[in-house]
Amino acid sequence: MSAAWRIGYGFDAHRLVPGRPFILGGVTIPSERGPFGHSDADVLAHALSDAILGACALGDLGLHFPDSDARWKGADSMHLLAACAGMARERGYALGNVDATVVVQAPRIAPHIVAIRTSVASVLRIEIDAVSVKAKTSEGMGYTGDGTGIAAYAVACLTRSKVP
Ligand code: MG
Repeated sequence: MSAAWRIGYGFDAHRLVPGRPFILGGVTIPSERGPFGHSDADVLAHALSDAILGACALGDLGLHFPDSDARWKGADSMHLLAACAGMARERGYALGNVDATVVVQAPRIAPHIVAIRTSVASVLRIEIDAVSVKAKTSEGMGYTGDGTGIAAYAVACLTRSKVP
């Protein structure tokens, strides 16, 4: 029988381009540039999705929602995150907590952290105190520092709530 506790890890990055909405954890943040992608390019939702899928050894977001599929063009990534959490629940896992770090130089994320945590908690159907989101810069270094892109890293802890 597999372990009662499972941990999953996720990473995502997108280019930042002018004229795209900046959506993070389902929250739209005012910005001149936004992440480019097939879906809404919500890096936090994507990293969290991969963390949850990873905890269940279910592959990654691209496996379940390929960007070659027109159905996911412009997709609300929070719906995809909800679907990943649903897959975990179907397999007998309960979500314990998630923790994520977003790395971007601008815009400032800190004023929106509570809204983002609330949004993620709602989609994952867990309490807000089980959702941690931190924002960092890379002090001007690399693609997250020069305005070229945004990255997110996430871990998810799941428990086996029942034997499937
Ligand atoms: Mg992505």
